[in-house]
Amino acid sequence: MASREKGVLFVVSAPSGAGKTTIVRRVISQLAGVSLSISCTTRAPRRGEQEGVDYSFITRAEFSALEQAGRFIEWAQVHGDLYGTPRANLERLHQGEDLVLEIDTQGARKIREAFSDAVLVFILPPSLEVLQGRLRSRGGDAEEAIRARLHNAQKELDQMDCYDYIVVNEEIEEATREVASIIIAERCKAARVLAERLGGTYGTDNG
Ligand code: 5GP
Repeated sequence: MASREKGVLFVVSAPSGAGKTTIVRRVISQLAGVSLSISCTTRAPRRGEQEGVDYSFITRAEFSALEQAGRFIEWAQVHGDLYGTPRANLERLHQGEDLVLEIDTQGARKIREAFSDAVLVFILPPSLEVLQGRLRSRGGDAEEAIRARLHNAQKELDQMDCYDYIVVNEEIEEATREVASIIIAERCKAARVLAERLGGTYGTDNG
């Protein structure tokens, strides 16, 4: 991979239980030059989740202080909890690294408004029945929370129109390959390569 001055900002959204986290983590472990933005949340950690790896788990008071100080590039309330993307995470883009924000559709819209060249990817479960099965088998969520997530899933599916790509997670390996291909293709987009090159080697007439 050629070194770049500016990375590409990716947003990946999906109804919870669609397999987004698994896919994104696989892509990041397979592809060089791309990392995951770790969000802050007021939600309690689920079984197996680790501080600083899955989220930065903070209190409502801490969240509100960070929000007041303008430390989030976007934030939203999802299923009653607060989630925010630390502005500082975007600094990696200026080091030539691609960044993936795993955020909900409200956050995706805010990112699209602030960064017109961000690439939005939506991961779709094969069906709502499959989604329901996955949410129940995951464990760690109360029945009421599962129902709220299913209700929210329908609302999120209605927001798909502002996304650039849709990947159906029928089979995890295939969906992982598709998301990785999107990242690779976006890196090679003529507009991006030329914008960078015109400011660099190709734009400098050294005789
Ligand atoms: P979960 O509680 O299942 O980890 O996440 C619930 C939802 O919140 C998911 O759709 C997830 O993508 C979203 N989410 C996680 N972090 C952020 C964030 O920083 N901002 C926004 N807007 N949504 C987030």
